[in-house]
Amino acid sequence: MSEVVLPDLFWLEPQREQLRQAHAQQRLPHALLIHDIPGGGGQHLALYAARLALCSVRSQAPCGNCRECALLSSALPGIPDSIQHPDLYWVSPLTDGEKASQQISISQIRELREDLSHTSHGSSGASVAIISPAETLTVPAANALLKTLEEPRTGALIVLLTAAPGKLLATLRSRCLRMQLRLPPRAQIIDWLNQARGAADWAAVLDVMGDAPLLALDADARHLAQVMRDTQHGLDRVLTGEPEAISTLAAQWSKAEQLPVRLACIESWIGVRVGATPPSGLQKSSRAASKQEAPAGNLAALVRAHDAVCELARQITTPINKTLALELILLQVSRSRGS
Ligand SMILES: [Zn+2]
Repeated sequence: MSEVVLPDLFWLEPQREQLRQAHAQQRLPHALLIHDIPGGGGQHLALYAARLALCSVRSQAPCGNCRECALLSSALPGIPDSIQHPDLYWVSPLTDGEKASQQISISQIRELREDLSHTSHGSSGASVAIISPAETLTVPAANALLKTLEEPRTGALIVLLTAAPGKLLATLRSRCLRMQLRLPPRAQIIDWLNQARGAADWAAVLDVMGDAPLLALDADARHLAQVMRDTQHGLDRVLTGEPEAISTLAAQWSKAEQLPVRLACIESWIGVRVGATPPSGLQKSSRAASKQEAPAGNLAALVRAHDAVCELARQITTPINKTLALELILLQVSRSRGS
């Protein structure tokens, strides 16, 4: 995790202002549902809500100077181990040990209920739990959480963070104040990235990663451009009828550390061929590189390839055979060549 201080995530300000006002008027809800956008900064907003609730100087919260604020200063979005405040709980799927899982289990929620039932340590009297990503709650865990929301302890704030609120129990959703993140226009995201990381072809990065400022922030623009060129070259080979390229490329591209970026590049390449308007940068060059526009009759194969890319992206952390999945994607790409 980088120690570099980020420029302000200015697009979160409307939501922060809404939370500040609610807090000042003692109307902060006991359950908040943050509808995140991948790379949009929902975890930062969840931490902001925690800072607000736990600060002991209500009129200036989060004041940044009190003991509570000092304890929270080390907390990093999405890194539970960085939390030192005893009244802030970050609940996510367990990543290591015997109980490692893709889901938040009922025993984690039972433990949280137990923690929240105690009086808080701080002078604000508040406790905050951030549950992220909330759609990974198992059904029993969600039901246990629902009970907690139905009998809230005074001063307890539960923040559910999710990019897929539709996957939460409707009864859980209905008990929360919902807050939706909205991204700024692309030009402002590019300005922000220039400020945060220095000048680079951020438009090209956003073409591949989508308009997701925090995902783009972690991307190495030069490396990404290289992966994009390499991917285009590989896909063009498959398209021009080098069947032996399929298994070679699939084996190369399935390497875990590069796979997410590679999939984004393939998706972008398919998008250009099916006629999605390329905003700028890399996609323009990919359009130039892909000499043939996709004939309508072969669109179906490209759509199947696209669906398979999305499916693999969804399952990227599971132990499925990535090489095989990539071979199937490349096979569809080769079929889109037509006769
Ligand atoms: Zn404070």
